[in-house]
Amino acid sequence: MKIMPNRMDRTFERYQKEFEEKALQVLRSGWYVLGNEVRSFEQEFAQYVGAAHCVGLASGLDALWIAFRVLGIGAGDEVIVQGNTYIASVMGITINGATPVFVEPDEYNNIDASKIEEKITDKTRAILVVHLYGQASNMAPIAALTRKYNLRLVEDCAQSHGACFQRKMTGTFGDVGCFSFYPSKNLGAFGDAGAIVTDDPKIAQDVRVFRNYGSEKRYYNKVVGANSRLDELQAGLLRVRLAHLDELTKERIRLCGTYTEELKNPAIELPRVREGATSVWHQYVIRSPKRDRLIEYLNEREIGTIIHYPIPPHLSEAYAYLGMGRGTLPITERYANEVLSIPLYNGMTEEEQQYVIESINQFI
Ligand SMILES: *Cc1c(COP(=O)(O)O)cnc(C)c1O
Repeated sequence: MKIMPNRMDRTFERYQKEFEEKALQVLRSGWYVLGNEVRSFEQEFAQYVGAAHCVGLASGLDALWIAFRVLGIGAGDEVIVQGNTYIASVMGITINGATPVFVEPDEYNNIDASKIEEKITDKTRAILVVHLYGQASNMAPIAALTRKYNLRLVEDCAQSHGACFQRKMTGTFGDVGCFSFYPSKNLGAFGDAGAIVTDDPKIAQDVRVFRNYGSEKRYYNKVVGANSRLDELQAGLLRVRLAHLDELTKERIRLCGTYTEELKNPAIELPRVREGATSVWHQYVIRSPKRDRLIEYLNEREIGTIIHYPIPPHLSEAYAYLGMGRGTLPITERYANEVLSIPLYNGMTEEEQQYVIESINQFI
């Protein structure tokens, strides 16, 4: 049996009729950028996460860098972020000229809140919290630190649509929550898309203006902005998917519950969820010192896997200029060598999952 690490076609097929009807409706409407679909999606998504405002953007990376831009964080400023994140989190900081300051992750793969305070300097302006692999970070101590030091709090929710910490949704703890709707995300579009959510009407308005060439009124430009508009087609398709997000998340939780119950191999460490937090299981990420052999073994059985992520940002060529060599973030680097995302997708059959479980349990 051939098993792919992810199957976006299964979700499409499940709601095919609704997606196709919406696509046709938008195509036939004669209106393709910044219209009713975008407005409705923004309202529905803001309501879903429990924020006052949502502004649709062209990608998750845009959500991050535009958030820091409107917060006025750039050259000379430091932003604290976990070392083991997807590189886009870091680019969201550095595109504006700010400097990332890396903190090691905890056992739940999110920023270790107990190691943040020692990294705060008089240049620190913000903490960027990434809810990695779908699990909400430990927000209570982080929110306390941002209050104590008067820092901005930005959340990278690209993997955590619907995940909560103490019943409050990720994206609503700080100044801005940044979302990606890249096709493989839990709330995925059929192309690139993103958004910010915020309770602050000024931030929402600034992002709204910035995404459209800095223009509030056509041909009157207040600032040098960007073209980062969410288009009508993606917004319409996202509305269809958002209406099903909770059932899709429940299915992922069920599948991951089965993994956690039935995977039994002393060479493999299973992911755990922090008390008070929930995970929407963007990935099911195991850790093993024998990771590379495990990948080969699973490949032989036609089971595909992905490493999220093999090269931590501080060791990537793009960030060589930070001058952080190997050994500067030992936990982050160990995770990069040990993590493995095993197959997980909506529509995964019991037969497929049992084949993955049996194969992993037989690995020696
Ligand atoms: C996907 C992702 C992003 C970037 O989103 P895009 O829409 O691809 O630009 C940022 N941060 C994290 C953690 C991600 O997983």
